Amino acid sequence: MSELEITVLPALSDNYFYLLKDTATGTTAVVDPPVVDDVLEQLGADGKLDLIIATHHHGDHTAGIEALKAKTGARVIGPAAEADKIPAIDEQLAEGDSVSVGEATARVFETPGHTAGHMSLYFEDSKALFCADTLFALGCGRLFEGTPAQMWDSLSKFSDLPDDTRVYCGHEYTLSNAQFAVTVDPENEELEQRLAQIEELRANDQPTIPSTLGEERRTNPFLRAADPAIRAHLGMESASDAEVFGEIRHRKDNA
Ligand code: ZN
Ligand code: FE
Repeated sequence: MSELEITVLPALSDNYFYLLKDTATGTTAVVDPPVVDDVLEQLGADGKLDLIIATHHHGDHTAGIEALKAKTGARVIGPAAEADKIPAIDEQLAEGDSVSVGEATARVFETPGHTAGHMSLYFEDSKALFCADTLFALGCGRLFEGTPAQMWDSLSKFSDLPDDTRVYCGHEYTLSNAQFAVTVDPENEELEQRLAQIEELRANDQPTIPSTLGEERRTNPFLRAADPAIRAHLGMESASDAEVFGEIRHRKDNA
């Protein structure tokens, strides 16, 4: 059992990427680096980086990969399903594969929807889920390359993970997500409280990341397609969960 030290790094206008360090071995990894210099600075004097992990091919998560690999010799790993679009990829991953960062091990989930080959990583011992643009705090990724049913299926893969799993997502979209969430789940008191907390954090320029899966299950409408109050609010009592999810996604796209 090995717990990772996780550093949340902001980049570009609203991206997050993550530096992982297995303290037992000193092994370091970076998830979705859009930039180079900030990573090198974080690595400190020895500049050692072992692994670069890409969740999906979008440039705002991959722009730093090639230069970082060139500077550090780190191995690049990413989803097999879009390996042709991940710069300088060395190793391809698929559903059920595992990834080691020193003694810390993650399980790979294929989570298509935002992109056709998006993957997420779950480190059980660290209770950490890296889900990039699949699940956001109070939101989910836009469906650029997938269907609502596919994305619903992807999000459902997280349903067995514990409530205290920390959710490390790809963007600081939480405030606008929260403002939308209250329009589809207006009776949810915990959501209302969360919106107030988020407003305060953002007013003070603080990150809202990570949240926990438990909070998301109780307040994120994109995980709550089965909720009777949301279904009633949408007039979709007899629809499938995927259809309710699709309607919520559609409303957010047009909000
Ligand atoms: Zn993306
Ligand atoms: Fe993104």
